[in-house]
Amino acid sequence: MTVALVTGGGGGIGRATAVALAAAGADVAILDLDAGLGDETAALVETAGRRALFLRTDVSDGAQMGEAVDQVERLLGPITAFANNAGIEGVVAPLHLYPDDVFDRLLQVNAKGVFLGLKHVLARMIPRGEGAIVNTASTSAVRGRAGLAGYVATKHAVLGLTRVAALDVAGTAIRVNAVLPGPVETRMIRSLDEQAGRSGGIRRAGAAAYGQPEDVAGVICFLLSDQARHVNGAAWTVDAGSTVA
Ligand code: NAD
Repeated sequence: MTVALVTGGGGGIGRATAVALAAAGADVAILDLDAGLGDETAALVETAGRRALFLRTDVSDGAQMGEAVDQVERLLGPITAFANNAGIEGVVAPLHLYPDDVFDRLLQVNAKGVFLGLKHVLARMIPRGEGAIVNTASTSAVRGRAGLAGYVATKHAVLGLTRVAALDVAGTAIRVNAVLPGPVETRMIRSLDEQAGRSGGIRRAGAAAYGQPEDVAGVICFLLSDQARHVNGAAWTVDAGSTVA
C-alpha cells in the first residue's frame, strides 16, 4: 500500500481513514469539496511523516474526477488503495413529501460520485492488474429507514456498484469491497439527529452506542491491505451488531 486516495477526506470517516492509511505507511491524496477541511487532513497526513496532496474536487463531476485522479498519479504515483467515501445525507422527510431536488443531489453525489470514483480509478488499476478499493456504503444499504428515501436509495446503489465492480475484476489481484457503517459520530450523524429530533423521522433498531470514525477507518484499512487479499465483493458491516438486532 503506497499511494492511497480518499474522497470526502475532509470529513469524519474520510479524515480518520486518511490518517490511518498514513500511519500504515501510505502517501495520501485527499479529495473533498471543502478546502479548509481537506487542507487540515493533509496536514495530519504530513504530521505522520507521509506525503499528502489535497485537491478540491466535486466527486459528482466526471471531468473533475478524471482530472483529479490523473493529477494524483502524476504527483504521487500509481494509486494502489482507494477509499471511495464521500457522501451526503440529504433531509429527513416522509417519502411523499421528499423534495425532488434533494433526491437528485443525493443520486449525483452518493451514487454517481461512487460510480465515477470506481470508473476513473479502475481504468488505471486494471491495466496494472493490482489495487484495492473500499466504497463507504451504510447499513442503509441493506435496510429501510423511515424519512431517508434519498439516502437509503443511494446507499443501496453503492452496494450494487460494489458488487458489479467486484465481478468485473474477479480473478485479478484487484478487489472491490464495501463497508456498511451504522451510526458514527461525525457531522453527518449530528445533522440527521438534529433533523430527526424535529421530525421524529428516523427509527433505529438495536441500541448500540455510536461508533467513532476510527472504528470504520480501521476496517477500511484492513480491507485495503493484503491481509484481506481473499475478500472481494463483501458488504462489511461496522455497526456493533445493530443491523442484526
Ligand atoms: P462528513 O459529512 O463528516 O464527511 C463527508 C465529507 O464528504 C465532507 O468532508 C464533505 O465535504 C465531503 N463531500 C460531500 N459532498 C462532496 C462532493 N460532492 N465531493 C467531494 N466531497 C464531498 O460525514 P461522514 O459521516 O464522515 O461520512 C462519510 C461517509 O460515510 C459517507 O458516504 C456517509 O454516507 C457514510 N456513512 C456515515 C455514517 C455516519 O453515521 N456518520 C453512517 C454510515 C455511512
